Amino acid sequence: MISKTLILLLTTFVLTSCQAQHENKKPDKSMNKETKPNNPYYSRTDTSKLDLPDSTWKKILPADVYEVARHAATEQAFTGKYWNFEGKGTYYCAACGNKLFRSDAKFASTCGWPSFYEPARPNSVIYKVDNSFGMRRTEVLCGRCAAHLGHIFDDGPPPTGKRFCMNSIVLDFVPDDSTRNK
Ligand code: FE
Repeated sequence: MISKTLILLLTTFVLTSCQAQHENKKPDKSMNKETKPNNPYYSRTDTSKLDLPDSTWKKILPADVYEVARHAATEQAFTGKYWNFEGKGTYYCAACGNKLFRSDAKFASTCGWPSFYEPARPNSVIYKVDNSFGMRRTEVLCGRCAAHLGHIFDDGPPPTGKRFCMNSIVLDFVPDDSTRNK
């Protein structure tokens, strides 16, 4: 009787383990979600401008996204999720869902941050002079919500010669084949 119970328990354990392993092999769908918990303004299709007070952003964004997006913090080089990532797809603003970059324009950069030579659309981003830290740089902001994304430099590759040096934390990557994984 005991051995039968043991066998039943073992079988259940093995089956559960197999199921768990199988589930782990499925593609991560979380990055494909078109909505964000607590963020009613997030949309990958609505291009209308967002002008929200800082207190609202603080409420609806995760703390690490908020610090970069609204207070121009910079993530540490070589620590972000996309600096050496080569997936084919589209990068959206993590704060509002605005379409920002295509993977086709991403290039391997040694700076430690994801780098692109052009935005997905001319109005995907906006630019602002940044004289902080004793440097004269051009800040790159989201064209829809004005989130800080990073800076642009003139040492990029052809065809534009530009380097959009971005923070991974404010980017959401969606693979081209994501519709098949839904
Ligand atoms: Fe945005």
